[in-house]
Amino acid sequence: MSEGNKIQPDIEFIKYLKNAGGDTVKRCYQCATCSVACPLSGDEKPFPRKEMIWSQWGLKDKLMTDPDIMLCHQCGDCTTNCPRGAKPAETLGAIRAYAYNYYGFPQGLAKLCSEGKNLPIMILIPTVIIGVIWFLSGGMRLPEGEINFGYFFGDGYYLGLPQNVLLIDLIFVPAFVFAIYAFYRGISNMWRGMAAQLPPGSSEFRPSVTQFVSQFLWPSVKEILAHNRFNECGTNRNRVNGHLPLLFAFIALFAVTIYAMIRKDVVGYFVEGLHVPLAMTDPFKILANIAGIALIVGVGILWANRSRTERENNSSPTFYDWYLIGVIMAVGVTGMAAQFFRLGDMAFMAYLFYFIHLVSVFMLFLYTPYTKLAHMFYRTFAMAFEKYRVSGYVGRQDQ
Ligand code: SF4
Ligand code: SF4
Repeated sequence: MSEGNKIQPDIEFIKYLKNAGGDTVKRCYQCATCSVACPLSGDEKPFPRKEMIWSQWGLKDKLMTDPDIMLCHQCGDCTTNCPRGAKPAETLGAIRAYAYNYYGFPQGLAKLCSEGKNLPIMILIPTVIIGVIWFLSGGMRLPEGEINFGYFFGDGYYLGLPQNVLLIDLIFVPAFVFAIYAFYRGISNMWRGMAAQLPPGSSEFRPSVTQFVSQFLWPSVKEILAHNRFNECGTNRNRVNGHLPLLFAFIALFAVTIYAMIRKDVVGYFVEGLHVPLAMTDPFKILANIAGIALIVGVGILWANRSRTERENNSSPTFYDWYLIGVIMAVGVTGMAAQFFRLGDMAFMAYLFYFIHLVSVFMLFLYTPYTKLAHMFYRTFAMAFEKYRVSGYVGRQDQ
């Protein structure tokens, strides 16, 4: 190996792993029991044994371009079977948390989201943005009369649309677009890093976009939706009971949001009566309420599972794991609470919880590329890369 290709140990990375859940990594003596126990590890490049030694040596660059860190589903089978208590599942979780920060764009925001001590600032940013827009929309007052969240940002009209609709769009559409762009940057960098590890000249036949989507990306998405790999896990199998309702809730709430935007912002531009909030009997409102309950139930199960896993494995709680559980719980509970207070005609509490709900949804959007939920996207593309790596597009010059 030439001098330029040498991989240097990164002492800071080793320190990071120790503090972020990988504090037992030094206990590993490379027996490979974990790789045998792992239900997802293939025969060709088994994990997590190799990741454990790379972690001990501080080989950050190798780990950051290793698709296997994203293919791990954090089931904990390896940790349960490790004879040395080295906790490989927790180590891989800490490496993934580092990767979201490493690939994160912009770096300042990624760093902000990497440590629990920054949580007050993470809450303050959307609180100030939404609070200032609310203040500018009508001053320090709550809408009068019947409680209607459709008037939270005022009841005037601009450009033919209610100012409430325009201001909600002004807050959330840029946050959503920004998060998508941040994912695009992060995942492109990860893909380039992984592709650089392929044998030289082996990937000169590039698939077209259509071939990439149909042969690699879509099959990976289908696997994730069916939870095929989760079902292979042993120790922590009941995580599927939490994951599936959450997945349903996210898809349903996304569908309801798109429906509401089309109805209020597009069709509503021409038909004034459509600006009003959805009626409780509207099928999409019913779907939203069922999804809200599924969200709370799903995250409640994940909360109980994480607490149990930490107790049984004697692991320390990490910001990486608990931020996601906390923010999803906040979205579900504040959304439901706002609705209950509205039905109970308690205006101040209803609008207060609605405001907190908007803040938590904004946090979910804006910080997703740098926190645990990022695994949904990074893992999907790592699975697509795994399929691409063994496909006919990549010459097997190493064999
Ligand atoms: S992490 Fe545990 S099971 Fe895996 S190789 Fe190291 S000592 Fe063996
Ligand atoms: S946590 Fe589960 S999926 Fe991940 S390496 Fe361990 S056994 Fe494999």
